[in-house]
Amino acid sequence: MKRDERGQPVGIVETSNDITARRQAQEALRDTQEDLARVNRVMLLSELTSSIAHEVKQPLSAISTSVGAATRWLITVPPHLDEANAALGRIARDCQRASEIISRVSALAKKEVPHKDQLDINATIREVIAMTDDVLQRNHVVLRTGLLSGLPVVTADRVQVQQVILNLITNAVEAMKGEAEDRRELTVNSGWDDETDLFVEVKDSGTGLDPAHIDQLFESFHTTKSGGMGLGLAISRSIVKAHDGRIWAAPNQPCGAVFRFTLPVRKVSSAA
Ligand code: ADP
Repeated sequence: MKRDERGQPVGIVETSNDITARRQAQEALRDTQEDLARVNRVMLLSELTSSIAHEVKQPLSAISTSVGAATRWLITVPPHLDEANAALGRIARDCQRASEIISRVSALAKKEVPHKDQLDINATIREVIAMTDDVLQRNHVVLRTGLLSGLPVVTADRVQVQQVILNLITNAVEAMKGEAEDRRELTVNSGWDDETDLFVEVKDSGTGLDPAHIDQLFESFHTTKSGGMGLGLAISRSIVKAHDGRIWAAPNQPCGAVFRFTLPVRKVSSAA
């Protein structure tokens, strides 16, 4: 601020040139802000569209496998109706899952409050393992679980938490594809992370993490896979954050990666 010789503030005389320049600067700033908002909206839309595609791919490929199985059971002579019926049951379950994913992903984008289911975290882990059973077998992955018994229930959105575990397991399996078949080990653990938080941990013996990119793993569109979209971990992080938990990755010993996320037991989130 300008002051006179006695140190008293004096008014600043603005010339019309100053005023014009300031107005132009303000207009430019407003334009930039509008551009940014537009870019954000477009990004959100494309992120949402790609994430739906990404997450729905899994149940869709399961459905296509089951359709193949059902057809084979029906055309055998005599037809195996029980097996065909079981395959149709799996199709119904996977359709339901695909549609739940779409509603959850949209809810996430709208920042809706997650469902508050009372989750037995070990049961949730087992549900996801059952869903990935085929994939694990096909890829010759040996699964070990260390699920601590007696854990309390957590208040969390069942489908969203399943989604996170599913993303971590899918990534672990993909990271082990290049390893020898007898060295593909997946370990899923649960337990207390500290006094108030439970953890779920997914460890693999795959390619491991590139230290140069470890900070970017959870960013949208960061991928090292040719067909990857780089959204699985970004979505997982938004889900975990919406539950007031944390998620991080570290190198596994002697090789591979460990991903761990936490869910608070007592603190109940009210915001997505
Ligand atoms: P995408 O699977 O489409 O690439 P993700 O967000 O799930 O998207 O993963 C982002 C990137 O993080 C992957 O491309 C991969 O480089 C790395 N990554 C994720 N999980 C693992 C893992 N278990 N081992 C090694 N790298 C991993």
